[in-house]
Amino acid sequence: MQPDPRQTSLAYLKGVGPGRARLLESELGLKTFQDLLYFFPNRYIDKSRYYTISELERSSAEVQLVGKIVHLKTVEQKRGKRLVATFRDDTGEMELVWFRSQQWFRERLKLGEPYVIFGRVNWYNGAFSMPHPDLELLSKHEQQKRLRMQPVYPSTEKLSRQGVSNRLLTQWVATVLGQLRDGLPETLPESILGSLRLLPKSRALVQIHFPDSNALLARAQARLKFEELFYIQLALLSKKNERKQRIKGFLFEQVGERFTTFYEKYLPFDLTEAQKRVLREIRADLGSNAQMNRLLQGDVGSGKTIVAVLSILLALDNGYQACLVAPTEILAQQHFNAVRELLDPMGIPAGLLTGSVREKDRKPMLAALADGSLPILIGTHAVLEARVVFKNLGLAIIDEQHRFGVAQRARLWKKNERPPHILVMTATPIPRTLAMSLYGDLDISLIDELPPGRKPVRTVLRSDADRLRVFRFLKDEIAKGRQVYIVYPLIQESEAMDYKDLMDGFESISREFPQPAYQVSIVHGQMKPEAKEYEMQRFASGKTHIMVATTVIEVGVNIPNASVMVIESAERFGLSQLHQLRGRVGRGADQSYCILMGGPKLSEDARTRLQTMVRTSDGFEIAETDLKLRGPGNLMGTQQSGILSLRIADLVRDRELLQSACQFAQQLLREDPALTHPENQVVRAKLSRMEVFKNRWDYIS
Ligand code: ADP
Ligand code: MG
Repeated sequence: MQPDPRQTSLAYLKGVGPGRARLLESELGLKTFQDLLYFFPNRYIDKSRYYTISELERSSAEVQLVGKIVHLKTVEQKRGKRLVATFRDDTGEMELVWFRSQQWFRERLKLGEPYVIFGRVNWYNGAFSMPHPDLELLSKHEQQKRLRMQPVYPSTEKLSRQGVSNRLLTQWVATVLGQLRDGLPETLPESILGSLRLLPKSRALVQIHFPDSNALLARAQARLKFEELFYIQLALLSKKNERKQRIKGFLFEQVGERFTTFYEKYLPFDLTEAQKRVLREIRADLGSNAQMNRLLQGDVGSGKTIVAVLSILLALDNGYQACLVAPTEILAQQHFNAVRELLDPMGIPAGLLTGSVREKDRKPMLAALADGSLPILIGTHAVLEARVVFKNLGLAIIDEQHRFGVAQRARLWKKNERPPHILVMTATPIPRTLAMSLYGDLDISLIDELPPGRKPVRTVLRSDADRLRVFRFLKDEIAKGRQVYIVYPLIQESEAMDYKDLMDGFESISREFPQPAYQVSIVHGQMKPEAKEYEMQRFASGKTHIMVATTVIEVGVNIPNASVMVIESAERFGLSQLHQLRGRVGRGADQSYCILMGGPKLSEDARTRLQTMVRTSDGFEIAETDLKLRGPGNLMGTQQSGILSLRIADLVRDRELLQSACQFAQQLLREDPALTHPENQVVRAKLSRMEVFKNRWDYIS
């Protein structure tokens, strides 16, 4: 077989050679002809139009003009000499300036003849100037046929120092394109190309490097972005389908007595429509033959716990055990309490396993799990330990996934010969299209409705100047029997300083709210777990009025009587964190408040974040804003999905393309799951060339 010319080493490209090939690899990661082909410009110099001097703006990027040099002089200053030309067109005048090679230009520049100049303009002392312009006599300029839009490639200082200029890179790309042009096969099926009017692959590759116009450039980019997103979606989806076929799940055939009894007699409230829908989705999974891998998304307070409990009952009714794993002791304890409260009346036992359970209590629990007499286990990571053995674990529920790695999820699988059904619950809202890309291997359920009667948390932004007023407000609330959280940022890098802020804050709060009238708790990451637990319990049981804390309380804690959340240095928190923190209040019947204490000087970014919090309590809207502000890199799951290694598409800016790529990928797999249709052979071929490297998809070819 002929070697694929696309895989030829760049060392063999005319004008490159082994030395520069090594440089291209170490600096830009380019090894083969193909790499260079997919090394896209990060911008273009638009020489498709001429500007006039009157059109120039202070922010003009690089521009091209036609005019004459009418005057030339050398200006001497303390810092050195410079050559200054007065350049004029029909609309005005500007200066061209040279600091280097002044003699050379002085001798050659022709006064009164039309020149084409190109460069970046500066605005200085009320006039425009252009240092070291590219210039050429108009008469000469017109003789040459040239690119109107010139590519500018990403580069490094080392490359420019070694003489690898943009001009050279451009030349090399052109050579590679010339050589491979006829060997660039189409990689999308005709039907998709047709219905989206996408450019053919080879045309898109030419146009993205050397566009004939802005319009064609846009189409070339759209085509390549679509392809990139489409294939990632397709790869994720087909992996999921394959897994579903390969791994058989336990079949929960019946809705049995416990589920029905609980539903009819013990359910403390009517389920929301969203909760019912999600339960139907879960039941459909459990009753199919495939193993469930489902992500349950629901904003804080949307009622995920009851969905978990009902799912657990389904497992029990079919003769299986279930476990529920939480990221912290406090949360595990809370879940345990909630489950006990709901299931004790029915006489269904549950065990709590955390790091602090003593050995003598642990032994009988482990025995009961192993012989099947304990049907439900709730706990922390301790549940994952190898010595925790179930008789037949049928369902594992993981709460708050972002504290929980994919690897840990995998450990749950190993508890049985067959992996249990898995339900991952998260309160971090992720825009739906994005969620589909991030969790291509999970199915997604969404609780998009809060239980009725919730009063939205009233959120305000305050500064240090308002502090006395804020304290007065807290006292009023406490007098009404409410409780208050005061949260300080604790961010790893500056932990010592943050810790000092926290302790200073605690002291001033203790002074402002003196004992015995007021009781103040404190919880932070440097305390022992038992001490933390003790303080949490005191607050939870209403023995203390104020909880001063770091973000340890961020996740899931449910204390309905706490109705005020004060967040100190709120500008230092990210949006999703602020949203999580605010979610700690507004859980009871009372009006709740969130007071964001902002520093004196807020950056634009911080202001947007805080104003977003004041404006809305919709988790999805907040997530969208967060995504726009910080990009997708900070979203949980992005690291694992490989979606960050995108070469050309941008998850935020190219949302619509992503959505359409998702739909087309789903449709294609629905209509032709095995990819046997002749038209889909290009898809099949490309999919088989895609590989996962260190959680990143290498997808382009
Ligand atoms: P989260 O989704 O944040 O885990 P929880 O499951 O803790 O939310 O539920 C928050 C509160 O709402 C709990 O006190 C719970 O009892 C209550 N709740 C859940 N679903 C409903 C419902 N359908 N109607 C009324 N209250 C509900
Ligand atoms: Mg919860």
